[in-house]
Amino acid sequence: MTMPIEQNSQTVKHVVIVGGGFAGLNCARKLGTHPNVRVTLLDKNNYHQFQPLLYQAATGILAPDNIAFNLRFTLLHQPNVNVKMTEVVSIDPNSRVVETAQGQRYQGDFLVLAAGSQPNFFNTPGAQEHSYPLYSLHDAERLRSRILSLLETAESDPSLVAKGALNTVIVGGGPTGAEMAGALGDMLRLALKQKASERPFKDLPPEQAQIFLVDGGHAVLGAFSPASQEYAAKMLEERGVQLLLGTRVKEIGSGHVLLSDGTTIPTHTVIWAGGLKAASLSSNLGMTTGHGGRIDVAADLSVPGLTGVYALGDFANITGKDGSPLPQLASVAEQSGKCCGKNILLEIEGKPRVPFHYLDKGIMAIIGKNSGVAEVGEHRLQIHGAIAFAAWLGVHAALLSSTRARIEAFMEWAWDYFGGARGDAVLDRREELQIDWNDAEKSQRGELQPQAHEHEVTHS
Ligand SMILES: Cc1cc2nc3c(=O)[nH]c(=O)nc-3n(C[C@H](O)[C@H](O)[C@H](O)COP(=O)(O)OP(=O)(O)OC[C@H]3O[C@@H](n4cnc5c(N)ncnc54)[C@H](O)[C@@H]3O)c2cc1C
Repeated sequence: MTMPIEQNSQTVKHVVIVGGGFAGLNCARKLGTHPNVRVTLLDKNNYHQFQPLLYQAATGILAPDNIAFNLRFTLLHQPNVNVKMTEVVSIDPNSRVVETAQGQRYQGDFLVLAAGSQPNFFNTPGAQEHSYPLYSLHDAERLRSRILSLLETAESDPSLVAKGALNTVIVGGGPTGAEMAGALGDMLRLALKQKASERPFKDLPPEQAQIFLVDGGHAVLGAFSPASQEYAAKMLEERGVQLLLGTRVKEIGSGHVLLSDGTTIPTHTVIWAGGLKAASLSSNLGMTTGHGGRIDVAADLSVPGLTGVYALGDFANITGKDGSPLPQLASVAEQSGKCCGKNILLEIEGKPRVPFHYLDKGIMAIIGKNSGVAEVGEHRLQIHGAIAFAAWLGVHAALLSSTRARIEAFMEWAWDYFGGARGDAVLDRREELQIDWNDAEKSQRGELQPQAHEHEVTHS
């Protein structure tokens, strides 16, 4: 049923924001106490998910509620913001009307598009069906259950180890893939300690749990300096991660991965960290899109040719100081959200909008416990090791939405760090126990044929 469009008052301007990620949330916060504005924030989830910590939820370092926060409560002190949990399915950018899956329509004086990203599988055969992307809370919970399912299943029937039960293939050696590989290496070291009496899985042979990190490039952490890349590679190898660089993934099946050099790896856990593109909503907006299907925006984040429409964060192609697009980072999304809120207020006051200037604080990644790489500020001052690890925790805790969330995350990190045990290893999604063991048999017999086309794994 299509509902009537809400009418806007002349004095109070209505801002419709699509997406409650770092970009949409910060825009809503900027506008939420202004007397001449009312905001409707639409998100398909009732929570804001903290993606930089997803891999920690996937490996049991943090619990799901440490990395996802109820949007209504997060915005409780912004009285002008009304949160609606609903999926936006279409948008008319000229009239600034959005339509939801339930048929509701919202018209704004201003429309802010901040729907984020989704995985880009680059048409790799089998990737969508058989891999585990890591982009949402749901993805992280599924992946954690899959890892636990395979440990439990192989403990009950160790013959399944030969069918790849303990092999994990991670596709993409950027920060997501490298951080996941390091954390998984630590997790498996804990679960499968050398001394049988000390390990929770008594019958699993530790040396047979293998982690492969595959990337088409010739180094991990492509955006970092060669020294940081070298340090990260060393830390990964110390955790038993096998680096398959200069290698592409040709096909993913339910029980194997086929690589460009003809190697087949039997595995039932393929983690997709191979690239991102704009959320599906961007494809039918009739707006100019650039790299990764992201909406091209002007310097002030407005969409050229439209009135009152802005695009932000991962959903937009935002040009940096040097003329190239800014990367998909939480800090870019957060700062663009604040700038957009400011520009909407300037427009309401009849003043000219200001251009967005990204304050680049640098890039960082952690490769398991005590090992990190940080390149600080625009001049990329390099820090490696425990200090970079601590800096990463501090920076990401600061981005969390409340003091309580920060304290809880620090307690979990301290428990993991000093206690050496992960308390949340509960297998609560039994559907991840459903595993096709026949595919691995076929791949072992060499019955799987390479596909005609192949796709390089790169980061968008
Ligand atoms: C695994 C991982 C690790 C990362 N690590 C880091 C890091 O260490 N440091 C860093 O700076 N950045 C990191 N990033 C990138 C960072 O998380 C993103 O750049 C940032 O989340 C982008 O914010 P956003 O608001 O644009 O989009 P998102 O945070 O993706 O938010 C988009 C929102 O839109 C909603 N939405 C989407 N489509 C619809 C629809 N049709 N209707 C309604 N709602 C919709 C979604 O539910 C979501 O809430 C990481 C990303 C990933 C995936």
